[in-house]
Amino acid sequence: MSAAVALVITIDGPAGAGKSTLARMLAQALGLALLDTGAIYRSVALLALEAGTSLDDAPALAALAGTMTLRFAFEGDVNRVFVNGRDVTALVRRPDISLATSQVSAHPGVRTALLNLQRQLGDVEPGVVVEGRDTGTVVFPHAAIKFFLTAGDEVRARRRVAEQQASGHDVDFAETLKEIRQRDERDSSRGTAPLKAADDAVVVDSSGRDLEDVLREMLKVVHAIQKPR
Ligand code: C5P
Repeated sequence: MSAAVALVITIDGPAGAGKSTLARMLAQALGLALLDTGAIYRSVALLALEAGTSLDDAPALAALAGTMTLRFAFEGDVNRVFVNGRDVTALVRRPDISLATSQVSAHPGVRTALLNLQRQLGDVEPGVVVEGRDTGTVVFPHAAIKFFLTAGDEVRARRRVAEQQASGHDVDFAETLKEIRQRDERDSSRGTAPLKAADDAVVVDSSGRDLEDVLREMLKVVHAIQKPR
């Protein structure tokens, strides 16, 4: 039996810091799998809105989280997410789902219900890049490498607007900035698993930098940590 332990790299940070794109680029560069934990929380919010479940009904939301089946499948560069057998990739990206998700994810029972699912999905050889809010602090506290990716809130809002416009949604900058601030506030102030950098995380600021530049910095960190001592 091999004694090798799969490599886990976590990337946490606020909305719009570039986590999704950089997690994908890093996973591709290193030949690792990718786990988007935000899509898991988004799926619970989608199911709740569709079922008419109140976003304050903690037990009902935890039950939805605990009973849904979820799988990811890559199609080219797109990480498709299937919930209860249905492709919800585009649906979970809707702006109303983003806000609902930060409400749903604040319930401790929902987070507990999703903990094992995240660990199971992340248990792949030769390793995985996991992105989210608490992946280095709570889900994978023993990850070999942890990043906290951040950027100024106006920079992040501008990126979100461009992203939404590229996928055909016409959104307003001021409204997007307000939503980002609201989500940051809710994600950072919740009692359970708030958004924060792990003590042993490497903090990377992506403001005013292109993706390749940030990726280079992250790869440098990975190679330095992985070097045999
Ligand atoms: O990363 P993404 O924007 O898809 O995350 C959507 C929301 O899901 C976040 O605003 C946060 O409320 C929640 N989330 C979380 N913990 C994670 C990942 C996402 O609470 N590990």
